[in-house]
Amino acid sequence: MIYLLFFLCGASLASFLQLISYRRSQKEQWIQGRSHCDFCGKNLSVVARIPIFHYFILKGKSQCCGKKLEKKYPIIEFLGGLLSILLFYKIGEISFLFWFIGGFYFLFLFLALEDISTMEVYIRDLVFLFFMALLCRIILGSFSIVSFALVSVACFAFHFIKKNSFGMGDSALLSILSLFHNSFIEFLWVVALGFGMASLYGGFLLFQKKGSRKTKIPLFPFLLLGSLVSFLLFY
Ligand SMILES: [Zn+2]
Repeated sequence: MIYLLFFLCGASLASFLQLISYRRSQKEQWIQGRSHCDFCGKNLSVVARIPIFHYFILKGKSQCCGKKLEKKYPIIEFLGGLLSILLFYKIGEISFLFWFIGGFYFLFLFLALEDISTMEVYIRDLVFLFFMALLCRIILGSFSIVSFALVSVACFAFHFIKKNSFGMGDSALLSILSLFHNSFIEFLWVVALGFGMASLYGGFLLFQKKGSRKTKIPLFPFLLLGSLVSFLLFY
């Protein structure tokens, strides 16, 4: 029962993050006003606002104007639900640490969404993520300042050498991850898993002839997966 509750909360939070991300891209007010249809602008009914299930109840179409809804909405809501279950399962209690690590991963999810839709992230969001990671480390009471410093210097140097293929946001994210993860080995797992999955995805795009060698792939979602797997394995 408690897992179901966590799942629903996580899914609702992911749904809310998608709404904020959408509103920010449209330069609308973030919080004010009711949710409305992406296509015709009519206010959404209660049913259309239930995370994940709205997609199945409405058979993948908007209630007001019958346009096809994007599949990414229920998928990301499902991932949000799954994320909160996994974190609760791993941490085992609703403590300060649970809230901060949860906050870190949901903020990370938000940044991954931004990276997918615009290929860009806001510096302000990365600063928030950095402080979230720092708070988690302070609560856990273990610091690996050497690995954080080395990774930061290496990533930013790499960014300035290969400006076109490796963004500033990616460098900043890698240094944040080296702070968040407990040891350098754990961080290497994040990098190996993240870049491994990104290359597989790139290979898949090439194979499907949907991209070329120059196609840019958003790295944040892959590093998020890598970080989560590594956290679940080592925490
Ligand atoms: Zn509509």
